Amino acid sequence: MWGYKMEETTWATVLETNGIIVAEMLVQRLQAAEIPAQAVQESAGKAFGFMSGPLGTAYVRVPMQFLEEARALLDVEAPTDADDIVICPNCDSELELGDTEWEQGWFICPVCEAKTSLEDLF
Ligand SMILES: [Zn+2]
Repeated sequence: MWGYKMEETTWATVLETNGIIVAEMLVQRLQAAEIPAQAVQESAGKAFGFMSGPLGTAYVRVPMQFLEEARALLDVEAPTDADDIVICPNCDSELELGDTEWEQGWFICPVCEAKTSLEDLF
């Protein structure tokens, strides 16, 4: 119906919502803009039986190639993983670390250029 096979589609999460109803409203907005979106209820809740329902965490998903368009339409910033944010002890800048920094255990602050060991932060 969208001109390509759904099973070959890689779905990406545009945003999380508090409840499937909100997710479905956003999906309708995306579909109105001809973006093939879908609302998905968090599946982890089903394992507990009582947790799934209209108030569980839901996700608005679109095919990967529509992700930027969907985010722009819904005015969503690309989510940053809060766990990857550290504060530089030297200049108090908020820094987002990548996998390389976590693996090597230290980083060079791009703002003040101080080298900081991750062990000193936690
Ligand atoms: Zn710094």
